This record gives sequence, structure tokens and C-alpha cells, in this order.
Amino acid sequence: MPLTPAQLSEIETARAASTPTRRPTVPALEAMLFEAMPVLDHGFVRVVDYLGDDAAVVQAARVSYGRGTRAANEDRGLIRYLMRHRHSTPFEMCEIKYHVKLPIFVARQWIRHRTANVNEYSARYSILDREFHIPAPEHLAAQAASNRQGRGAVLQGAEAAHVLDLLRQDATRTHDHYAEILNEDAEGKPLDPARAGLARELARMNLTLGTYTQWYWKTDLHNLLGFLSLRADDHAQYEIRVYAEAMLKTVRAWVPISFEAFHDYRMGAAVLSAQMLAVVRRMLAGDAVAQEGSGLSRREWRELMAMLGQAD
Ligand SMILES: Cc1cc2nc3c(=O)[nH]c(=O)nc-3n(C[C@H](O)[C@H](O)[C@H](O)COP(=O)(O)OP(=O)(O)OC[C@H]3O[C@@H](n4cnc5c(N)ncnc54)[C@H](O)[C@@H]3O)c2cc1C
Repeated sequence: MPLTPAQLSEIETARAASTPTRRPTVPALEAMLFEAMPVLDHGFVRVVDYLGDDAAVVQAARVSYGRGTRAANEDRGLIRYLMRHRHSTPFEMCEIKYHVKLPIFVARQWIRHRTANVNEYSARYSILDREFHIPAPEHLAAQAASNRQGRGAVLQGAEAAHVLDLLRQDATRTHDHYAEILNEDAEGKPLDPARAGLARELARMNLTLGTYTQWYWKTDLHNLLGFLSLRADDHAQYEIRVYAEAMLKTVRAWVPISFEAFHDYRMGAAVLSAQMLAVVRRMLAGDAVAQEGSGLSRREWRELMAMLGQAD
């Protein structure tokens, strides 16, 4: 996560300042504010602002005049009830803004989450840094045999070394060509005064999807939890999951009661179809149920057995 000395100094200045406010603040999140949490080889995620706290969820649910809070256990019970019954709008009263540095192929997955406000670094206006994602050897895995959207065993030996070498060479070469066709050095001076250089908005087309971009990403707590439930899940690609896992730490610091309810009723919970529920009821009644005759496809059966911690 190579932040420049100037960027680090800006972050330090921001962290040193404090402003008196009547608005509620959360000390645990204040402690994290502005600080960049490293993710992947050059990426980071950092909280740059937030609005609301657990009490704001309670306040909105009760539509109260003051903070809306009652005894701590009543507030906790209300938040857990709201989460359990997908009464989502009180969670939309809290907002958070992140600054994220991420590879373009991760950004393409991330941007599918439409319920956020995004402003991305302009590669029409500015030159992209010479930073591209190269996976760590332990994440260089083969295509999964059984899952077309997943990975299998980690590549080994000469094959792993060759793949890493090609990834590095291609990313380096495309960036070298980017600089050449832009005809600009790092300070923006022409490399060759005799050439005009291609416009930034066109030159970027040659870069690999591993090139890093940056954005400010703002969303509300409800939609953030939707994002995290999909992207911190085991089915999500590792390279986006690590961002979601870093963000989970910020949510736990920010709204610990909502986070606990989210963990219990969303991340750690399972949804059963009507047919799955019927199978569980039959099992509880002592029936020896097999996949055949259960009403479930083989895949659903496997998923149910995995949920129940039973061997297939
Ligand atoms: C494991 C995984 C694999 C995936 N594979 C693919 C893939 O192969 N190809 C692909 O294209 N995508 C893929 N996706 C992306 C996925 O289909 C969703 O686009 C993405 O997860 C965003 O989810 P969302 O729409 O719920 O989020 P958001 O866009 O944040 O929306 C949140 C909710 O708001 C509502 N909403 C938002 N916008 C609208 C709208 N315009 N109209 C109606 N309701 C709206 C919906 O209820 C939605 O669920 C994958 C995602 C995951 C997690």
C-alpha cells in the first residue's frame, strides 16, 4: 500500500484535527477515521466520513424527538427485531463514506452494487500510477473442476513461476507503452519534445485489468450490509472478499449492535426453501430421508446437508 509521504502527511493532518459537534459520534470509529487499511498488494480501504450510529437506527424506528434510546437491552432487542424481520429503512439512516484503492477487475464487480454514490479517479484527467495487482503465490489457483465460478488447487512449481512471470511482464509492458504513447514522465514533462502524445482518455485503453484505480464510495448501512453479505461471503472472489472483510471491521466499530444482529441473522444464518424445511421437519420426526424422494435436486440436497453440517 504505497502511500506517498505527502498523502500520509495529509492523513495525519486530518487525524490530528477535531471539530466540536452536537451530532453523535462513535469513539471506536473515530479512532479508525482516515487511516488506510492495507488490502491486496497496493490497495487500501479507509473511512473518510460517517453519519449516525446504533442509536440513530433506534431513533428512526421509534420516530422520536430525542435520541430515541431506552434501556440498552430494549434498544438491542429492537435492532435485532428489525434485522430479523428485514425492516430495513431504519438502517438507511446511517451512512458511511470510504476511500478505496482497488484493481480495475475488482472495481468492475464492486460497481454492480448500484445503491451507492461513487466518484472514481479520472484517468481522462490524470495519469494512472504504475501499480498493478500481482497475486501472492498462495492465491494463484487453477480453475475449479466442479464450480465454473471458482478456484481449485494452487498452482505449483514451474507453472506458478511462469504464470507470475507473464502477469508481471504483461502488466509492466502495457504500462511502459502507456507512458510512451502518453509521452509524459511522472512529472508530466514530455519524454520526447518532438511528439504530441496520445490523450490520457485514450492511452489508458492499453492497461491491464489488474491496474489500480481509486474511488470514494458512499452508501447507507442497509445497502452496505447487502454489499457485505454478498462480498464477504465464501462464494465471492477472494480479491473483493478481502476488501469486504476489512470493511466488516469498520462496521463492527461503528454500529456494534447492528453488526451483531447482521452477523446472527444474515451472515451466520441460512435460508431454507419450502422443500428444505419439509425435509428438516421429516428428519426431526425421525424419517430416514434421502435425496431421492426429498423433492430437492442433488445440488439443493448438498447445500442443505452442508447447512445442517451433515455428510452428503
Ligand atoms: C458470487 C457472485 C457472482 C456474481 N456473478 C455475476 C455474473 O456472472 N454476471 C453478472 O452480471 N453479475 C454477477 N454478479 C453480480 C450480481 O448479479 C449483482 O449485480 C450484484 O451482486 C449487485 O447486487 P444487488 O443488485 O443486490 O446490489 P445493488 O445494486 O446495490 O441493489 C440492492 C438492491 O436494490 C434494488 N435495486 C437496485 N437497483 C435497482 C433497479 N434498477 N431496479 C430494481 N431494483 C433495484 C434491488 O432490490 C437490489 O437487490 C455476481 C455477484 C456475486 C455476489
